[in-house]
Amino acid sequence: MQIFVNEMPLKRRIAYLKSKGKTIGFVPTMGALHKGHLSLIEKSNFRCDITVCSIFVNPTQFNNKEDLVNYPITIEEDISKLKNANTDILFKPTERVIYPPDTNLDVEIDLEGLDNLWEGKFRPGHFKGVVQVVKRLLDLVQPDFLFMGQKDFQQFTIINMMLEKLNMATKLIVVPIYREKDGLAMSSRNIRLTKKFREKSTILYKSLVFAKSVYGVKTPEEIESTAIRMIKDQGLNPEYFKIVNGETLRSVVSVSDNFVIAIVAAWAGNVRLIDNIIIKHEK
Ligand code: AMP
Repeated sequence: MQIFVNEMPLKRRIAYLKSKGKTIGFVPTMGALHKGHLSLIEKSNFRCDITVCSIFVNPTQFNNKEDLVNYPITIEEDISKLKNANTDILFKPTERVIYPPDTNLDVEIDLEGLDNLWEGKFRPGHFKGVVQVVKRLLDLVQPDFLFMGQKDFQQFTIINMMLEKLNMATKLIVVPIYREKDGLAMSSRNIRLTKKFREKSTILYKSLVFAKSVYGVKTPEEIESTAIRMIKDQGLNPEYFKIVNGETLRSVVSVSDNFVIAIVAAWAGNVRLIDNIIIKHEK
């Protein structure tokens, strides 16, 4: 695995690989890698000739300083996991490489309000930071395919809108949520859960499975309020539990909506967790 920190050597390598006709798959991450991240690497390896993974804890997407300071960093383990997973290139830039001084990297696109819903409402400015860093990384890596997790549903929906609106040549591929045996969605933040909250956190997946099982029998409002109660009963503090259209991320209009998901965010002690489930997706 080759490791690049700076812009020019990375760009030269990618240009060379492209000149040889290689397809490039890209998996952006913030490190503290787990099996969810590795499932993205695996998909990229399967689909593309070359897999590039980036590790960059992007300060502009953290609305909460404490969350940024406490974000886990496990770079030695990450490197060995990436090597074992047959990653071709690791891009591990410094903040200066991503955000060179005196350079405006704001991405001026209308996200049609998607950035102000759910995660955007509870984490103001988060998606502005996500769009900015993903655009910058895509400009550097120039991948044919971008691999992102279904775990961050709103994130990939917004990035897809960005790819379309900017007419970018990269195609997004969404990879299903990788879970622990007991259903908890894998997340870098899980290692910060106390033993008690680690056990209680399984309620998130249970509440999503419940929502899916009664959708169409009970109204979305009934399901949402029951799910919120289930989560509170376990001592977690939910920010939202919503049943929404999988494209617009707004409330479902009727049972005939053909793409429906349930999304949830909750605090387990001082760790914020998110999860979702696809309730139905008829094409
Ligand atoms: P992060 O390092 O948390 O920014 O995540 C990097 C990428 O991995 C994003 O596209 C996430 O959606 C994806 N990801 C995170 N957790 C999981 C998971 N449990 N299953 C699948 N993909 C995931």
